[in-house]
Amino acid sequence: MSNALPTGRTEISCDVLVIGGGAAGIAAATAAGRAGAQVVLLERYGFLGGLATSAQVGTICGLYLRDETGVEAVPVSNGFASEFAGRLQQTSGTKPLRVDRGLWVLPYFPPDFAHVASTVVGETKNVKLISHATVANTCVENSKIKSVRALAWNEPLNFSAKAVVDCTGEATAAALAGAGSENGATDQSPALVFVLENVDPTLALRGLLEARRELRVSVQKGILPALCERISIVPGSGKNGRFAFKFSLLPANPDLALWQQVTDWETESRALLEPLVNFLVNNVAAFRDARLESVAPQLGVRSGRRILGRARLADADVLNTLKSVQGIARGCWPMERWTAAPKPEMNYFAQQKFYDIPFDCLRPVELENIFVAGRCLSAETGAMTSARVIGTALATGWAAGTAAAFQAAGKSLDEAVALIRKQMT
Ligand SMILES: Cc1cc2nc3c(=O)[nH]c(=O)nc-3n(C[C@H](O)[C@H](O)[C@H](O)COP(=O)(O)OP(=O)(O)OC[C@H]3O[C@@H](n4cnc5c(N)ncnc54)[C@H](O)[C@@H]3O)c2cc1C
Repeated sequence: MSNALPTGRTEISCDVLVIGGGAAGIAAATAAGRAGAQVVLLERYGFLGGLATSAQVGTICGLYLRDETGVEAVPVSNGFASEFAGRLQQTSGTKPLRVDRGLWVLPYFPPDFAHVASTVVGETKNVKLISHATVANTCVENSKIKSVRALAWNEPLNFSAKAVVDCTGEATAAALAGAGSENGATDQSPALVFVLENVDPTLALRGLLEARRELRVSVQKGILPALCERISIVPGSGKNGRFAFKFSLLPANPDLALWQQVTDWETESRALLEPLVNFLVNNVAAFRDARLESVAPQLGVRSGRRILGRARLADADVLNTLKSVQGIARGCWPMERWTAAPKPEMNYFAQQKFYDIPFDCLRPVELENIFVAGRCLSAETGAMTSARVIGTALATGWAAGTAAAFQAAGKSLDEAVALIRKQMT
């Protein structure tokens, strides 16, 4: 009997292959399925949501217009992002929350996000989910992706699809197929999210300020490594003494290969958690009885590889709230860039305004039958720090999935753009 792996003869055909089940991917698969395509959704983990669940991000940004005075959160557009937010609110009772400068977010509990994502995708009958499936190769002929190779629970599978949607957050399929791309990992710092339970709720607010001060002093005295100062709270967390924190690292070193950089980030941040938590427990009253409840299974990498598309969303387009006749999604979050500084650089545009993301930002120059969405889309550095948020990723995912279904059915992409634009208003 041979112990060799099967040689990859399992062939699966579909109309639309969606790669990556994060915010963009669940929207893309649902859109393509509802448009009538036979869809396969591949996800490398055993649950859906991408960074929203694996990195336990905790709040959805990009759903509502910025507004310092209005009493209610106003959605930036109609469509799938609003539908998904509504389902999440129904499931978990969460509500929009206004934070700094009139920005509205929707806090969520990560398992609820994963549950709603599975429910929504599961309800779309012609979508087949294959989990633990990692795409590692593509075959291209005449500017079209002919087949995609994945390892699904360590078994090689071959997919042929009429259209492909890359929602990997790293433009992996597009890059494997030869699309031009750029690496955004040096643009922003990643963060590891961890949760402390049993924080004294009566002392929490003061405790957080005190924690910051104590950490700063200890870093200055060399008691703790400098990174330990870089913690911030996830807005909306704090119910029943359970607080989520983001522990930010430094942006990627351009001289390191990304796989090496990610390994170093994961190792370093996880090793620092124990001394960090012990320090809080021993030095800040509010944390005296606190315990580490959970740590995100995956480090949150804010920027990764993205395509150089037929159009590129520019920083100026975001700040000047560009409108486009090809606009297929609306962005309403400011540019929020996490650098080596302890706090993010924020660049706001006017309140109650939004910008359009043109359809061609989802299309690689070199390939005809692949669309990208979420963090993979074509954008300048600053523009991506706005367009990457979950609300906008849901919207671009929907657009990419709709376009892919139209292409697979031999219908015109102009028709797809017209439908998406109608659904937004
Ligand atoms: C620390 C941090 C804090 C953030 N805070 C917020 C916030 O408060 N609010 C907000 O709205 N946004 C926030 N963001 C941004 C937001 O979480 C992401 O930009 C957004 O979730 C991206 O969605 P996506 O679908 O494009 O990509 P991802 O969420 O990265 O999804 C990609 C999916 O593809 C899968 N995948 C990858 N490669 C393969 C492969 N080869 N084969 C198969 N599957 C693959 C992954 O497992 C994953 O499920 C934050 C990000 C970070 C890192």
